[in-house]
Amino acid sequence: MSRDGRSRTRTYAAGALALLALATGCGDNGGGAGAAPAATTAAPAAPQSAGAAPAAAATTPGTTLAGGDAAAWAKWNLKPLAPAPAPPADKPVKLERTGTVPVFSDVKTSDKVVFITIDDGAEKDPKFVEMLTDLKVPISMFLTKDIVKNDYGYFKPLQALGNHIQNHTVTHPVMSKLSPEKQKAEICDDQSALTQQYGTAPLLFRPPFGDGANTPTLNTSVQECGPRAIVLWRESMQIHDMQYQAGDKKLKPGDIILAHFRGPKELKGATMTQMFGDLLARIQEQGFSVARLEDYIQAPAS
Ligand SMILES: [Zn+2]
Repeated sequence: MSRDGRSRTRTYAAGALALLALATGCGDNGGGAGAAPAATTAAPAAPQSAGAAPAAAATTPGTTLAGGDAAAWAKWNLKPLAPAPAPPADKPVKLERTGTVPVFSDVKTSDKVVFITIDDGAEKDPKFVEMLTDLKVPISMFLTKDIVKNDYGYFKPLQALGNHIQNHTVTHPVMSKLSPEKQKAEICDDQSALTQQYGTAPLLFRPPFGDGANTPTLNTSVQECGPRAIVLWRESMQIHDMQYQAGDKKLKPGDIILAHFRGPKELKGATMTQMFGDLLARIQEQGFSVARLEDYIQAPAS
């Protein structure tokens, strides 16, 4: 039912974006991983999104998503980000329960916010958990099973901060080179592993390198495994700066930024927290705050 012509038309429209994504994205071991847990229903390890703001600090939900206190920012030698606005009640992205899944690399919003996605899961630096615990900057994690399975537990404190875990395949392959059956195995097996480990089914999928994002074959594979959107990106964090798809090299409201769980080996000696601090500085100096991607997406009614 998911292979109708209508779907294909919509899918092809995203072709240009996919090329752009390929040009900047998810190189080496990098890629997007992650799937946004299905909405905010309180599953076991369910992130504290939208409605209920559990234990975390005494803050009004939405006003301090990228908050933390001044001392926390100073501890990491950073200037505080502007507080993110409250999540929109009417979500700019509305996902359907069936049919073709949309492919997007930004979110339509006038809020001066960007979204940070972190892929793969190779570097498991405890300092990064400390940093996010201090700063409360929201991220979405697109995790690759074979890269995280040696330590699923690392990501649980990050999830407990309210961050969602999304789908990024089992082995990080170039999807367009795989048969539909193999594509399905890559997505469905990551989906079930992440669901089992983290208690929520990923809502979003990111193909490694952005490859194949706009092909009908991949769209069908994603549909058959459960995620309801394919998420690409507009900027890609390198070591100290971002690579922009836009010619003016400026962040725009609603941009999705790709980063990776990487350490000194991949970052020419820089650590994960240094890379992430530089990313926040680039965002801060352009006057943006960081919002939670899943707060701008309406999951299908269940
Ligand atoms: Zn990746």
